[in-house]
This record gives sequence, C-alpha cells and structure tokens, in this order.
Amino acid sequence: MNATPSKRMPAIFFGHGSPMNALEENRYTAVWQQLGASMPRPKAILAVSAHWTTRGTAVTAMAAPRTIHDFGGFPQTLFDLQYPAPGDPALAARVRDLLAPVDVQMDHSWGLDHGTWSVLIKAFPHADVPVIQLSIDGTQSNAHYHELGRKLAVLRDAGILIIGTGDVVHNLRMMTRGNGPAPDWAVRFNDKVRDCLIRNEIEQLIDYPQWGRDAELAVPTPEHFSPLLYIVGTKRNDEAISIAVDGIEAGAISMLTAVVGAID
Ligand code: ZN
Repeated sequence: MNATPSKRMPAIFFGHGSPMNALEENRYTAVWQQLGASMPRPKAILAVSAHWTTRGTAVTAMAAPRTIHDFGGFPQTLFDLQYPAPGDPALAARVRDLLAPVDVQMDHSWGLDHGTWSVLIKAFPHADVPVIQLSIDGTQSNAHYHELGRKLAVLRDAGILIIGTGDVVHNLRMMTRGNGPAPDWAVRFNDKVRDCLIRNEIEQLIDYPQWGRDAELAVPTPEHFSPLLYIVGTKRNDEAISIAVDGIEAGAISMLTAVVGAID
C-alpha cells in the first residue's frame, strides 16, 4: 500500500511594501493572514527576500535565525517586533544539494530580514514553522533566478512553502504622499506584470528590462523584482498563477501578491 502523497504546496510572491505593514492591519495584511490560514500547514518555509543580495548564492543554515531590523526611521515598536521561528539546517542542506552545480554557501550570520518576517508575522503569526532564507546572487541573470526556482519546485511536493518577497514596482525616489492616483508608468508596468502572470507569459516577464522607460522607473534596481522570478520558476505546466491582492501605494510601491498553484 502506498502512503498518501503529501499535497503540493503553493508558492507565493508577496508584495511586502513598507515595513510598517508588520504592525498595521490593512487590506494587504488581511490577505496575507488569510493565505496563511487557508493552506495546509507547511513543514517549513523557504524565502527569497529582496533584502538579501550576495555575491554567489547562500542559504541560512542556523538553528535559530535572528530577527533582522534592516531599516531606519521607523517607530520603536517596529524594532521591538521579533519573529522567533526556528531555522531548518537539514532543509538548507537539501536546498544546497538541489541547486548543484551552483555553489550554495551555508550561511550562519544572516537570519530573517524584514522582507521575510514582515509578511510571515501575518501569514504565520505563531512563528512555529521553520524558516530559511535563500539569497539572491546579484551577479546573476533573470534567467538564472527563474532556473533556480525551477530546481526548487520539487520542495513544494514535500510540504515546503516557497515564498518570494519584494515589490513588482519599487522606486523610493518617486514615492508620493497622500492618496492620489498612482502615476501612469507605475500602473502600466504593474498591469503588464499582472497580465504576464495570469497569461503564463513567463519569457516576457524574464525579459522585463527590455520593456523600456516604464521598467526603468518601476525597477530602478532589480532586487525587489527578482524574487518573483524564483516563484514563477516553481510553476508546473498544469498550474496557473492567480493574483491574491494588488494595489500601488505611495505612487511607487506595488503590493501585488501572486500565488502559484492551489491554496487548499
Ligand atoms: Zn523591501
């Protein structure tokens, strides 16, 4: 008799926006909460965060990752937040093996940066699911990030939740105050990304730097976009990508959150 195969976990790209989302309750954090509550409990979480770019690829391999408050100018209550999820050294070793021949460093100094914990504190508020982070190799290409996602996809069948955390549109210099409409370039770029996801036009998405002026404004530096490429890389042919929530905050930060596969 065969054991029941564990169900394939979804993979999620979170538009994390401001670190303040960790403290606030809004329409985005409500969806993050709901996503965590409605899926089977993951055995562990593998996170690719915009806030950890390295030379070469690294994976956190400590048993108890620290909560990193990698931001400035926010209230003390935000610095006081902790996300004491355990690590998972065995999963880190498995990730290293899966990504061979890419040389993956076992890291013992990073931890959980706010890209990761500011969304997980909503999705899995008890911090009782082990979490590891995989860094973004800043010397590599979009096709490489997508390929790493493809190699990691098998973890989804083993109860591992793979998340990317960034922002499809992220231009801190173009941020505006107030609740005015988002500028055209931001809306156009965000809509085009969303359409590519829904229509499964992954090659187009990988080529986003060729999209012209809108892309230059929306993605002035790639680190907040790149996690999405890992997540779409985990998609199997029989799966679709859905948009869990979307919106542009402060004129220049996209909160688009996309789900690969089924949630429940
Ligand atoms: Zn960020």
